[in-house]
Amino acid sequence: MNKFPRSAYVHIPFCHRRCFYCDFAVIPLGNKVETLKGYGSKTVQEYLQFLYKEILSIKHKSPLSTIYIGGGTPSILDPTQIKELIDLFKENYGIDYGAEITMEVDPASFTQDDLFGFINAGINRFSLGVQSFNNQILQKSGRRHLKEDAEKSCLWLKREYESGLIKSWSLDLIQNLPLSGFKEWQDDLKKAITFSPPHLSIYDLNIENGTVFKKLVNLGKLKLPSDEQAFRNSKLTHLILKNSGYSRYEISNYCLPRHQSRHNRVYWSGLGWWSFGQGSTSSPWGEKLTRPRVSKEYKEWVIRQCELNLDSSLINKDFVYKELDEKIMLGLRLKEGIDIKELFKEQNWENKKFESNFSKLLEEWEKFLDSGLLVRKGNRFFLSEPKGMELSNQVIISMFKWWDEINCNKSAVTLTCPSQ
Ligand code: SF4
Repeated sequence: MNKFPRSAYVHIPFCHRRCFYCDFAVIPLGNKVETLKGYGSKTVQEYLQFLYKEILSIKHKSPLSTIYIGGGTPSILDPTQIKELIDLFKENYGIDYGAEITMEVDPASFTQDDLFGFINAGINRFSLGVQSFNNQILQKSGRRHLKEDAEKSCLWLKREYESGLIKSWSLDLIQNLPLSGFKEWQDDLKKAITFSPPHLSIYDLNIENGTVFKKLVNLGKLKLPSDEQAFRNSKLTHLILKNSGYSRYEISNYCLPRHQSRHNRVYWSGLGWWSFGQGSTSSPWGEKLTRPRVSKEYKEWVIRQCELNLDSSLINKDFVYKELDEKIMLGLRLKEGIDIKELFKEQNWENKKFESNFSKLLEEWEKFLDSGLLVRKGNRFFLSEPKGMELSNQVIISMFKWWDEINCNKSAVTLTCPSQ
C-alpha cells in the first residue's frame, strides 16, 4: 500500500443561508456575499488563509489523484480563489495526470462565466446540489434556489460534459423531503434524467438535531412521508434509474458505466485521505481526526498544529487498519460487497477463532440470507438490490452486535462485558 494519502477533501464552510435540514459545519453569509471584495469577503479571505496554512502544514506531501472541494457552498468562491487553492496543491503536493478534481456547486450560486472559470482553474467534475425540481418542496426545505435555477445549471453542466470540457458531473437529489409524495418524487427523478447526468446521488432525508426540521418535528408541525411511502419512493428510484441505464454502485450513488466517484470510493474502501478545513475529518493513516466546527476554534487549532505539530494523526506513521466492523460496514455499502475471508485474514486470528467467529457471524446473517436482503457467492457477501440496499441498517446492526459479542468474549476472563 502507498504510504501516503493520495486524496484530499477541502471544506469551504460558506453558504448564503442554512437550509432547514442541514447540520453541517457552515457559516451562513447572507444573500449579498461577494467573496473577492465587499460583503463577507473579509471572513472568506481570512478563512482561506488558515486553510492554506493547514494544507501547507503537512510534512510529507505526495501527489494527489483525487481532490474534492465540498461544503458548504464552494461555488460561493470566485474562480480566482478556486484556482489559488488548486495551484497550492499543484505546487506543494503535485496532482497526478488524469486526477479527478471535484467541486460541489449549488444552483443560483454561480454564473456560466463562473463555471468556465472553475473549469479553467482545473475542476473536471462537478456535483450539483439540486435536491428537488419542485419549487414548493425547495421552499419548504429552506433552499435558496428555484427549479428554474436548477434547470439552467443542469443544462450548462450537460453542455460542458458533452463538449468534453469536464469529465463527469453528478446531480444530487434528496429523497423524502416534506411535500414529496410518490408523484412529486417521480417527477423529480424523471426531470433529473432528462439532463442525462453521468452520476446521481440520491440521499435520504435525515432529521438532525439542531435543525429547523427537528424543531418542527418536535412541535408536530412537519409532515414527512411515512415509512411505507418512503419505501415506495425508494423502489421507484431503483426502477426509474435502472431502466435509464444507471447502476447503483453504492447505497446512495448511481452512475452510468465508468462514472463512479473515485474520491468517494477512497472513503468506502478504507484507504487514507487528507482533509482540510473547519469541521472536516481526515484519516491519513487509518485513525480519524475531526477539526473544530467553530471558526475561532478551528483557527486556533491551525495555529497550534503549525507551531507545535500537536496532532499526531497528521504525522507520517504506519497505517492503522480500520477495525473489522468498520471495514465490513463500509464494504457492504458497495455493490460488490465484501470478501469476508479476506477481511478476516487481516485479523491474524488462529484457525479455531477464525472459524468460530465466522460461524457466529453466519448465525447472525442467516435470516437476512434467507429473506434475500443479503446475498452470498462463495466468500463474497453483498446487499441485494433494491431490498437489501434499502434495509441495509438491519444487516449492519446485526454485524455490530456480532462484533460487540466477540469482543466481549475476548475480555470475559477478567472483565464484565459492559453490555451484560
Ligand atoms: S447549501 Fe448545503 S451546506 Fe449549505 S446550508 Fe444548504 S444543505 Fe447545508
